[in-house]
Amino acid sequence: MMIKLDEAMLTTQQALWVVFSRGKLVVQESSESIPVAYLHELPFLTSYISDIHQLPPLNETAQRDLPVFVVDLGAEHIDEPGWERVSLRQLLFAEYDIAFSVIGRAWQYIHFLRTHQFCGQCGSKTERVDWEMAMHCHRCQHRSYPRVSPCIIVSIHNNEKVLLAKGVRHRDANMYSTLAGFVESGESLEQAVHREVYEEVGVKVKNLRYYNSQPWPFPHSLMVGFIAEYDEGEIRCQENEIDDAQWFDIDNLPTIPPKVSIAGQLIAETVSLIGNK
Ligand SMILES: [Zn+2]
Repeated sequence: MMIKLDEAMLTTQQALWVVFSRGKLVVQESSESIPVAYLHELPFLTSYISDIHQLPPLNETAQRDLPVFVVDLGAEHIDEPGWERVSLRQLLFAEYDIAFSVIGRAWQYIHFLRTHQFCGQCGSKTERVDWEMAMHCHRCQHRSYPRVSPCIIVSIHNNEKVLLAKGVRHRDANMYSTLAGFVESGESLEQAVHREVYEEVGVKVKNLRYYNSQPWPFPHSLMVGFIAEYDEGEIRCQENEIDDAQWFDIDNLPTIPPKVSIAGQLIAETVSLIGNK
């Protein structure tokens, strides 16, 4: 995932800049997107030249020819007129015209560097490997790679209706979504779907179908999407996790997640499945 920093490129080419400051992204005021700029147009990076990392080229953005540089300013304050900090979620959910993957990958990379400064086996200081995305311990040779945590996410339908739940975290937004949960060690994706659904809403499902997947950078999940049919059971919400769950008519859906998220896409796909029956 990493490539060696191309120093000539750094000083002479326009690039996409993903700059993190205190867990947020630095953008030009009201630009609604991460900056496309030359290095000299980002004066607050002057003392961070040796901390600039380069992500491999992307092939799925409109700006595919631009190099992508990532910088973590840590807890540093940016006090530069014309620049502001916005949250990762703010950019992702606003459906701004930037590749979801650029920011997500950059954040996962920075998060990895921050959390692997010392060897998990012997406690020595680790060093970055310059030809792959890893941190290496030269004392005991232990090497760490970025963590990816698989999560299942599932949309459940029963005849004309779709099951959506309001998690406790979405209480304020009153948003209903698909069910999701981390895959446990030693569990298959399918087993995780059956277990999570039963734990969260007390129903059994059948005929799982893989839909698609999405990296979810909070901080390093990989959402694996399924569509399932209802099998049996009455809705019973898991305490402290699910505020409410209901079977919704596809013509009368509650507030749901935006299409930029896999949850939004899964719901749309299920609605179209039901609609085409
Ligand atoms: Zn070690």
